[in-house]
Amino acid sequence: MASIVGKTTQCKACGSDNLFWFAHNKNHSVVQNNRLNTNDVTCLLVLGCADCSETLMSVSADRLAERMTAALKPNAEAESHE
Ligand SMILES: [Zn+2]
Repeated sequence: MASIVGKTTQCKACGSDNLFWFAHNKNHSVVQNNRLNTNDVTCLLVLGCADCSETLMSVSADRLAERMTAALKPNAEAESHE
């Protein structure tokens, strides 16, 4: 997990340490908003700054799930650094 979340502890824009993670559903298609299907939408986990709203990092839910799966096998995790 640490290799995704990294060591970001301060906002690169304003220097604040008032950061938080939130989930964001992103429309990655060109479909109009009220004609979307669920497969047009990707779930992202976003690290944002509460003070200036800067987006510092985003990780797709799929990628996070892969890493969580890898974390079930601690020995495999050690070999898969990116
Ligand atoms: Zn900030």
